[in-house]
Amino acid sequence: MPPPVLHALEQIKGWGWEQFIHPDDLTETVRMWKHCITSGEPFHFEHRFRRADGLYRWHISQVVALNDGEGKAVMWVGSSADIHDGKEAEQRKDEFLALLAHELRNPLAPIGNALHILRQTGGAGETARPAIDMMQRQVGQMVRLVDDLLDVSRISQGKIELQRVRIELGPILSHAVEAAQPHCITMKQELTITMPPQPIYLNADPARLTQIIGNLLNNACKYSDQGGRIELIVETDKVQVVIRVQDNGIGIAADQLPRIFEMFRQVDTSLDRAQGGLGIGLTLVKRLVEMHGGSIEAHSDGLARGAEFVVRLPVLAGAPNISQAQSNASLSPTVRRRVLVVDDNLDSASSMSMLLEMSGHEVHTAHDGIAAVEAAAEWQPDVILLDIGLPKIDGLEAARRIRREQKRVGLPLLIALTGWGQDEDRRLSQEAGFDFHLVKPVDLLVLKTLLDSLLMP
Ligand code: ADP
Repeated sequence: MPPPVLHALEQIKGWGWEQFIHPDDLTETVRMWKHCITSGEPFHFEHRFRRADGLYRWHISQVVALNDGEGKAVMWVGSSADIHDGKEAEQRKDEFLALLAHELRNPLAPIGNALHILRQTGGAGETARPAIDMMQRQVGQMVRLVDDLLDVSRISQGKIELQRVRIELGPILSHAVEAAQPHCITMKQELTITMPPQPIYLNADPARLTQIIGNLLNNACKYSDQGGRIELIVETDKVQVVIRVQDNGIGIAADQLPRIFEMFRQVDTSLDRAQGGLGIGLTLVKRLVEMHGGSIEAHSDGLARGAEFVVRLPVLAGAPNISQAQSNASLSPTVRRRVLVVDDNLDSASSMSMLLEMSGHEVHTAHDGIAAVEAAAEWQPDVILLDIGLPKIDGLEAARRIRREQKRVGLPLLIALTGWGQDEDRRLSQEAGFDFHLVKPVDLLVLKTLLDSLLMP
């Protein structure tokens, strides 16, 4: 433990407390402590100290400056408390939540995809249509809740990562609106979109961006009454895009506004809203917007006066050279891509191709690594959805060969479709030349958004 009373940086230097701190925590501890000594701010930090038996245990250290009355620190007083057992329990809880959310999420994607097929093919007949719509809404709600749950543990462990690619914003907005639409229809709310005619390009994670807009739209619906009005307004200049989500709903009291982005913050938990939530959405939205180098603000003139959320994101510097097919801006219809689907599971490959063809894409399939490399050379697809575990040569090796042989700059786009989503798996696929990594079971909406928004070189 550090001594309770310290006067100056020089004094702690000689004492050698550094040797008791876990090497992984040392740099940050020293940086924080130096910052506090220079600024006079209180020190508050969690780090591991080595006990007499050699084991490291988590401690919380808190130190405050005692001033001489003129703002100059004359003495630092503090304590360090062992929080190891609680911290371990917290970590186990986070891991459990992540596992639970993952397991709950798995059955949802195939159910959602099956409903999508039923809806598109009219397979269930007109009488069943309202039931299918209802199931889609409820599955959508379940997906949002489980995704939020999955993200809580990622937020608290600082493990959220972005997969940024060059994309067009229009299709992202269109898919977010599509997802919010059923909810608005049930509530008889009117959702209008205003956006500039020219396309807007970003370097962003398409799935996360859809989540940002989707969350805000979903809240706007949820916290507005029947017949409410929701507006999505997009403006842009050379530097940034401003996305406003406005509603004329229940509004937010002035004293709640500053805290609205805090984790688990819910303004009125007594509200019996039909579509509940976990109080995580806005925390996540803020974190994701900031990770994209943007900002978010909340405005409201008070209760019953509606609310507005304003997201600002940097746009892609330098206008890309876009083919005509892609330059029809905004909520454009699906762009037709040549997609090669590679999966050794014949059912997965054929259901995936069916879904993609229904979305307007031209699709070929292959079932092993060698066939994938050959089809890539012969058929010249724009995008390859490539499983990693494949016979003959695996997806990683296939990706390397395809990259080596490619003639067109930046094409084809390689998307890994795999059951493995750990950081290490993502690193390996990136090294092999993949542009994107999707974990199975793939949510069709995520894949559609990705294919529609990806900027082809
Ligand atoms: P929740 O799961 O409760 O919706 P969020 O993090 O998305 O969690 O939102 C936090 C809280 O912020 C909500 O519980 C609600 O009280 C308030 N809020 C969010 N969006 C709006 C809005 N458009 N109008 C009024 N209140 C809102």
